Amino acid sequence: MPEGDTIFRAARTLNRALAGRTVTRFDSVFSQLTRVDDTVPIRGRTIERVDARGKHLLIWFSGDLVLRTHMRMRGSWHIYRPGERWQRPRTDMRIVIGTNEYEAVAFSVPVAELTNARDLERATAVGDLGPDIVASEFDSADAVERILAQPDVEIGDVLLDQTAIAGIGNIFKSESLFAARLNPFARVGGLSRADIERVVDAARRLMRASATQRPADFSVYGRAGRACRRCGTAISHRKQGEHARVTYWCARCQPAASNLPGGDGRTRGPAE
Ligand SMILES: [Zn+2]
Repeated sequence: MPEGDTIFRAARTLNRALAGRTVTRFDSVFSQLTRVDDTVPIRGRTIERVDARGKHLLIWFSGDLVLRTHMRMRGSWHIYRPGERWQRPRTDMRIVIGTNEYEAVAFSVPVAELTNARDLERATAVGDLGPDIVASEFDSADAVERILAQPDVEIGDVLLDQTAIAGIGNIFKSESLFAARLNPFARVGGLSRADIERVVDAARRLMRASATQRPADFSVYGRAGRACRRCGTAISHRKQGEHARVTYWCARCQPAASNLPGGDGRTRGPAE
């Protein structure tokens, strides 16, 4: 699944191609979009900007209209010159926004709605998002508070909770926990505020780097059974949480015991 850093890059690319241009064509296979287009046409509007909020990509049109899309597992936005051959089959097309200079095509995007600024904040998943990990203005203290507010949840799960902190997916969950040397299965209540601050800082540093540069090699993600780059121990992996997302970690660098606060009973064993 694309994470916040990928959506951030996609939004920046779309914004460069589309911002300030007039829509000359709008097509979609989604009836909830074409219904809106029939009543308040999108053609003729100016694209004001494209930005990302967590894993949501937002295209802002003049006249207070916003197209929100979410990529889930296979969705992506492409930019083409008019008439240029698409790199994915026409059957995967979900939305086309054409201008005189470029056309933006959404392929296999499963979530799309047209809304306005106020309803976007109030009624959709966007309004409930926690601080956006790759946004230029990131409220780290707010993110730390939202995580600390869930003491019974394992840290590896709460990092994926978009209402606590927005934009982190499965890859950077594992990578950030490794960088912070925290055991993924430790409950938040058993960790210190400094631990939470460390993993939030690591997530932001790694994902900001990935949003603006070529992604580096991963430390643990996808490396099950291979040697830890720090200590040589074989990397572990295990499914975690109600969605059974795979977590990767080094049992030596991120031991369960290091998160147990001296037997004060605040946490159960992370690997029970
Ligand atoms: Zn290690």
